[in-house]
Amino acid sequence: MPNFNITVINGDGIGPEIVPQAVNVLGVIGEKFGHTFNFENVLMGGCAIDEFGEPLPQATIDACLSSDSVLLGSIGGLRWESLPGNERPEVGLLGLRSAMKLYANIRPAMLFQPLKSACPLREDIAERGIDMVFARELTGGIYFGERGRNGDVAFDTEKYSVSEVRRIAKVAFETAMVRRKKVTSIDKANVLDSSRLWREVTSEVAKDYPQVELEHMLVDNAAMQLVKDPSQFDVILANNIFGDILSDEAAMITGSIGMLASASLGDTKVGLYEPIHGSAPDIAGKNLANPIATILSAAMMLKYSFGLTAESAAIENAVNAVLESGARTADIKDESTTEVVGTVEMGELIIAELRK
Ligand code: NAD
Repeated sequence: MPNFNITVINGDGIGPEIVPQAVNVLGVIGEKFGHTFNFENVLMGGCAIDEFGEPLPQATIDACLSSDSVLLGSIGGLRWESLPGNERPEVGLLGLRSAMKLYANIRPAMLFQPLKSACPLREDIAERGIDMVFARELTGGIYFGERGRNGDVAFDTEKYSVSEVRRIAKVAFETAMVRRKKVTSIDKANVLDSSRLWREVTSEVAKDYPQVELEHMLVDNAAMQLVKDPSQFDVILANNIFGDILSDEAAMITGSIGMLASASLGDTKVGLYEPIHGSAPDIAGKNLANPIATILSAAMMLKYSFGLTAESAAIENAVNAVLESGARTADIKDESTTEVVGTVEMGELIIAELRK
């Protein structure tokens, strides 16, 4: 019987409310499909600062590195915002990504049809469907390049090597292979040298994936196309900064931040899975948070790290069925909502659906 060891980091704010719902869902998947999931809870972020005086204790890094994957809630909150930059909760997350050598951020942006009304785009555009995945480079580019300030002048540097582009491009093509087999690579090749290199390398990698269609798109056009016709996108491949901005735009058009999952991957199967939202301190401790993004992050873990595609699809289908039934957490309710449920109840409804 397959056995998987999962490190669990609840984190701060709503983290301790939403993560247990995802853990419960994994438990039911284990029972249903005959897998054993072992969970080890560790601390990172503000709660680790409170307990150990640092956001990322060595024990947390060790637990993550020795596990098959990591499930994270979210970190941060007002309480720690007055700390110096290098001691804050976010340092824990950046440090963990670096310790786990994670360079690819995979972020699906999909519109669940029962939530169509939450989509801010025209109805006929929402009807066509939104189901895309971002493959964003996470450890290079302008966020990590040389920077400086000299009096009235400041600069940041966008810099990529062939190997950095090649490895993220491969992730995008591999992702497309298990989807609709189209990669849209984003750049600004009409202006930037780094983008011309990006285009060159992605075209080269594409030769290894003849079944996948590769399209190059300038970032400004991509920003427009995302609102004009998001149904045209399958996998969007982007550098760190373009991916950061465009994936937030894509998240917005799907309607709710509480619905979107993400994965950070490196060269091994061990990934870090987390919702895209933060720790939502404004609703923490009130049983109001939507646990679906975290539950869908667990579904991504099954697919991308454990190769359990049927199990992953079972979770997605259960989420869809619960939404079809009309149940909503407060963040995704609209005028027609008849049943507003809390964090725990939403988790229970998804589990009941899985058990059917
Ligand atoms: P946020 O995502 O926490 O919240 C933004 C808004 O969305 C809030 O109104 C919140 O109530 C709502 N929201 C978020 N998740 C929700 C959910 N699951 N269900 C229902 N509503 C939800 O962003 P913020 O307020 O800018 O940041 C709050 C804290 O989170 C900050 O300390 C920030 O640094 C941290 N943060 C952490 C991560 C992370 O852990 N990866 C990411 C972003 C922000």
